[in-house]
Amino acid sequence: MKALKEFYPQLLIPKRVIITTHQKPDGDAMGSSLGLYHFLQSLGHTVKVISPTNWANFLSWMPGTKDVIDFEMHKETAIKLMNDAEIIFCLDFNILHRTKHVEKYIEQSSATKILIDHHQLPQEEAFQFGISDTNKSSTCEMVYDFIVQSGHSDKISLDIAACLYTGVMTDTGSFRFPSTTASVHRMVAHLKELGLQHSIIHENIYDNFLENRLRFIGNALLNRMDVLYEYNTALMFIPKSDLLKFDIKTGDTEGLVNYLLTIEGIKLGAIVIDRDEERKWSFRSKGNFDVNTFARLHFEGGGHINAAGGRSSESLEKTIQTFYQVIKQYEQQLQ
Ligand code: 5GP
Ligand code: MN
Repeated sequence: MKALKEFYPQLLIPKRVIITTHQKPDGDAMGSSLGLYHFLQSLGHTVKVISPTNWANFLSWMPGTKDVIDFEMHKETAIKLMNDAEIIFCLDFNILHRTKHVEKYIEQSSATKILIDHHQLPQEEAFQFGISDTNKSSTCEMVYDFIVQSGHSDKISLDIAACLYTGVMTDTGSFRFPSTTASVHRMVAHLKELGLQHSIIHENIYDNFLENRLRFIGNALLNRMDVLYEYNTALMFIPKSDLLKFDIKTGDTEGLVNYLLTIEGIKLGAIVIDRDEERKWSFRSKGNFDVNTFARLHFEGGGHINAAGGRSSESLEKTIQTFYQVIKQYEQQLQ
């Protein structure tokens, strides 16, 4: 993988470009994809964003979302676009299997593949150009750097600013995680100078749910949480019946895992949700407990040191038992 800056000269030659991201895209995945989409369009490229799956409703206000192609809904169109593409940007993931059914088409494509991402251990051989920086708060911050460092700051429109702000805000927990550097604040200051209205974005993302989601969270906190004080760990498990009972949609469970870390002394929060095809884990930690390694070793996952995800094809009961077993090895590290 060559450095991203070696690609800058090619930016001025209009091409057929695809931007893709990880399945169930979050604020950073959608924000970076759409921010880059508007930027590349402004340079004259023909651009399409393909999401491997659907996304949360609270992201649908973002400028350009209505033009995003959901691969699962429009497979034929998406495959044709991928086959015709000259460049494929891969944002907010670094292992192709995070794109679910899109993986095969990225692999097959003869397009130049470019990575922009901030997760650990990139699959570098899959990309011709790219940047992978785990010190960056978000992929949105990296797209901002890409625009500025390639000499195109003047192209940052209000639409681009809103998209990029969204991912920085969501990935930094509204500017509170240690990843919130001075550069993050400088970027936001620049976007504010351009006229960004930030409050409305917080409202769109965080104050846009239905009553049932709040009742679902209440039930989860009351009935689906186990606190293991000897390991400074809190576990939450969501059976499929809860998802059905409260009519839970994509995105409604986001952020639930963060409640676990609000308990005094808790260093590891883990949540497992019984999804259709798999049991999906999310891990969050405080301090130096490395959930990226933990997720990789035990739950086929990965991510960052303090935030990672994983999966299991075992039943919900079985994967919870596995968790209770493996956590025993970490008693010392969690003190
Ligand atoms: P979340 O718990 O919010 O789904 O994910 C936390 C972080 O871990 C995100 O940066 C996400 O991209 C990453 N992540 C989530 N699930 C997986 C997974 O199954 N594999 C890998 N490698 N990373 C994941
Ligand atoms: Mn991200």
